[in-house]
Amino acid sequence: MRCSLCKKDKAVIKYRHSNMYLCADCFKKVFEKKALVVLKRAGVLRGSGKLIVVAVSGGKDSLNTLYVLHKYSEIYDYDVIALLINEGISGYREYTIKGMISLCNKYKIEYKIVSMENEIGFTVDFATELYKKRKIRWKPCTVCGVFRRYLLNKHAREMGADFLATGHNLDDEAQTILLNIFQDSLYRVIQADYISREIVPKMVPRIKPLYYIYEKESVVYALLNKIPAWHIECPHAQYGMRADIRRFLNKLEDLKPGTKINLLLSREKIIQKTKSLKMPMKYCEICGEPSTHEICRACQIRNVINKFL
Ligand SMILES: [Zn+2]
Ligand SMILES: [Zn+2]
Repeated sequence: MRCSLCKKDKAVIKYRHSNMYLCADCFKKVFEKKALVVLKRAGVLRGSGKLIVVAVSGGKDSLNTLYVLHKYSEIYDYDVIALLINEGISGYREYTIKGMISLCNKYKIEYKIVSMENEIGFTVDFATELYKKRKIRWKPCTVCGVFRRYLLNKHAREMGADFLATGHNLDDEAQTILLNIFQDSLYRVIQADYISREIVPKMVPRIKPLYYIYEKESVVYALLNKIPAWHIECPHAQYGMRADIRRFLNKLEDLKPGTKINLLLSREKIIQKTKSLKMPMKYCEICGEPSTHEICRACQIRNVINKFL
């Protein structure tokens, strides 16, 4: 198949919902343009000298985000620093750290690694053991998510970040919308789309440059740009509900291309209608970080797990 845009080169990807075929060069341009649309809409490209801290997990999505942001950093005059939280998941984290370091060395990108064990006092592996022994009720993905968000925000803020960029792609977002609806957390659905919707002191605004990019596109982009991403799944992923929703959504998308993006578009409409709805933001009585509770989730979990240390 020839490329639908340049009509010259051989296509490397097919878009089923729009029936388009793209060659490697046209695909890279379209991919980057979609990321730049998010940056532009989020106000990242306004003014100069902004600092974007990129939350890197070491998978293809976060490394693609880092790569694209770095690629355009000179043109649009902003700085990029990678930030990785080592949550202590053995058989996984040691490989993904290597991916980030090799990309950063290749393109001379500054990076910082934060150890959850040093900062919080325990690892996600330790919390997983407690969960398996039924000593705590929080699943590994909950513990990991709570502390990763907590440490990312705290360190990005201390680094002076104007924005914290994450690698969430269109598939992740579609899954999260359903996950939150199934858990009756509407507020989380409207809290953020490609950017955080509320400005909260001490919270670094989040941006998601890959918001309009399908998982499949992210895989192809990483391959074409030789991004050193490790194709390794977190060993604790099995405990979450996300895997089931992912299979379900992939099946629906296969039957009716465009299903996932329609979920995102619906969310944007809901956000427009619910602009006045604000969650009262408080500051944790223990650690002072922003939270929707008197005591933040990180401190709640920490108080329980500390008893087992
Ligand atoms: Zn082309
Ligand atoms: Zn706290």
